[in-house]
Amino acid sequence: MMRIPNMDNSTTGDHSSGNHAILTKVDKLRELISNRVALPQLVVVGDQSSGKSSVLEGLTGFAFPRDAELCTRYATQITCRREDEESITVSIIPNHDAPPSEQETVKRFHRTLIEMSPENLAEIFRDANNAMGIRTSTTTPSQSSSIPPAFSEHILKIEKLGPHEEHFTVIDVPGIFRKETEGITTESDIDLVRNMVQSYMKDARTIILAIMPSNVDPATQEILKLAKKADPNMTRTMAVLTKPDLAIERTTQQIAIDHVSGKRSDLTLGYYIVKNRGPDDMDKTLEQGQADERAFFSQAPWSDLKRTGKVGMDSLKVRVRALLVDLIKKEFPELKRDVRRELHAARTQRDAMGPSRRNQHTQRAYLNKISEKFQALVRDATNAYYTSDKLFTNRPDLRLITRVVEANEEFASEMDKKGHMREFISDVAQESESAVGGEFEVNFDTEDLYSRLSPQLDNYPELDEIFDPIDISLPDPSGPEDIIDYIEDVYKSSRGQELGTFGSALLGTVFQEQTKKWEPITLWHISQAIICVHHFIYTTIKDICPDSKVQEALWDGFLLDQLQSSYRKAFGHAKYLLEIEREGQPFTMNHYFNSNLQKDQTDRLVSKLEQLGRQTMIGRPGEDQKEGILLSKLELRNLSVNKSNADYVREYMHDVLKSYYKVSLKRFVDVICMQVIMSDLLTGKHSPLKIFNTDMVLSLSEEQLEMIAGEDLAVKIRRDKLDNEIEKYEEALKVLKGTDGAPAS
Ligand code: GDP
Ligand code: MG
Repeated sequence: MMRIPNMDNSTTGDHSSGNHAILTKVDKLRELISNRVALPQLVVVGDQSSGKSSVLEGLTGFAFPRDAELCTRYATQITCRREDEESITVSIIPNHDAPPSEQETVKRFHRTLIEMSPENLAEIFRDANNAMGIRTSTTTPSQSSSIPPAFSEHILKIEKLGPHEEHFTVIDVPGIFRKETEGITTESDIDLVRNMVQSYMKDARTIILAIMPSNVDPATQEILKLAKKADPNMTRTMAVLTKPDLAIERTTQQIAIDHVSGKRSDLTLGYYIVKNRGPDDMDKTLEQGQADERAFFSQAPWSDLKRTGKVGMDSLKVRVRALLVDLIKKEFPELKRDVRRELHAARTQRDAMGPSRRNQHTQRAYLNKISEKFQALVRDATNAYYTSDKLFTNRPDLRLITRVVEANEEFASEMDKKGHMREFISDVAQESESAVGGEFEVNFDTEDLYSRLSPQLDNYPELDEIFDPIDISLPDPSGPEDIIDYIEDVYKSSRGQELGTFGSALLGTVFQEQTKKWEPITLWHISQAIICVHHFIYTTIKDICPDSKVQEALWDGFLLDQLQSSYRKAFGHAKYLLEIEREGQPFTMNHYFNSNLQKDQTDRLVSKLEQLGRQTMIGRPGEDQKEGILLSKLELRNLSVNKSNADYVREYMHDVLKSYYKVSLKRFVDVICMQVIMSDLLTGKHSPLKIFNTDMVLSLSEEQLEMIAGEDLAVKIRRDKLDNEIEKYEEALKVLKGTDGAPAS
């Protein structure tokens, strides 16, 4: 339901002054916001030469120069307003789709006339045509490289002020035509004009005056078809028949009469009929023309139409004004909503731009705010507090700590499954068991870690220079595939004098070989984490930085270098940890090393005994019997004698390596996750997430601030434009609410 604001005082009888107030308001609104919000208006449409400009002149008193060459080539908005001083101002409202330079040019066009004469006007129109670059028959093609257009989508704005003017705004648009004129109009002009006319008619706040000469049958008129398309209910379309004096045949007259009297009318608002001055009445004034009109309609057959109230310019004028006022009243609440919406949109845009940044203090404050926002997001993302900001909704890629924990898990399992170069002995047995179950993964050696890097990497070519020197391809084992064979090789080639033992240097060598894949897998994992963190930083800063220029300057000119160096540090740290773990002296205080070793040794002994002995049951039958092994003393003695010193050392070395490997792997995975991933890349003091913070902003020099956060001209212009718009919308809202100090209606 549409609420009609309390400005209708028709019940008090003071009709005209109430309407006057409303029309004044609309004029004020037009001044303020007509380029953004459609306002109630009247548009005159019809074929070329159907009498549109003549009807307009009758309605507004504004006389267009009658020069065929100056026929309407663009929309003309005529506003009449009551003012003490009489004047006519002509300017051009630029078409918003035109190139900016052209808009600037036409905006400069401005003429004021104190005294109106046909000559003065003709000159102004000629100037306006030139300003819009319109082609006329006097323009020769050689004057410019491209042929200037015959029509323009800029709007010529005429303001007619005077003590006797009535508030009124009408728009005259070029007439529709169907045939091109050699040297003046082209095929494409036909479409351009039709589109222009249709776009004016489409607006629900526009009253359409469809002008048709009386000597044609309205049923055949294209303009009515267009109007029906734009206004299907025909509630804002009104037909005006012109040139009744040229309808001489009785049947033609009757068709016009039937339409006006409503017998054949298909329009809710009906048909009006007027008679304007013809080409032969050039020397007559408007008043003389209207006297002629009254005389004309008092004669048969037209005199019968008097009772319809739809005859002559005077009735049309009254009706059109009433219609306009009705439409305005009806549209006021909607208009208010539109203005509120535009105001809100403009304010949101201005707020998004942040405060003005003209000096180092405002620039610093501006950047500081962004850095605080960024740090808050970092805090939330590393604490898994994802409900804090809508940025995290539907963005699993920005749920940083979750992604990193997942990556750590993948890293741990990767290291567990594929970190060792050769399978340890008992593991082989176990794993071939599980292979029966189908879970045993084969061929992991050929798997390409590069192809498993996050595809997001493609979005960040800046990471290439960090990643390029990092080699994450998996190495092949050097020497025999089997671990015991390998140990034997190493043992033989570097055996010293020691009897039944081996030096820890030997363990170091074997351990290094066994952990050769740690480096690529670890560096791959760190690369993954860096991509994750980098993506987070880039995306959040882009999101919270309203000005893309600032974001780019901050990113390219400042953050990127520091981010890259912190990523390099993380890699460096990882390599240092790898070096200690793999190339240093094997060392551990972890008691699991010994217990693992003892367990392996015991397992080995038990399986040997099982091989040599016979299964038996221990204990008295009928009571709790246990499985046991029966061995003769000789067999037991052979157990140790059978094994050569070398065999023994090989096995022992394998068990030591295996036990140490297990302990070292757990320690290493933990240290990488804790130090490199969690500290270096996430929460540590020097993590990339900490680079853009308040301290950094405080340390920026005046020059750096200007470089990052300085406003360029475009931003300044945009800000001024928004400020200006907001001011106008606020003012318009006051007008709509009746709190603008204008006399209440
Ligand atoms: P527009 O091209 O639609 O703007 O039409 P104009 O208002 O310029 O009129 C075109 C021609 O028709 C002009 O020469 C007018 O004098 C003439 N004209 C307009 N209305 C009437 C009318 O009611 N009777 C006569 N005889 N001529 C008219
Ligand atoms: Mg015209």
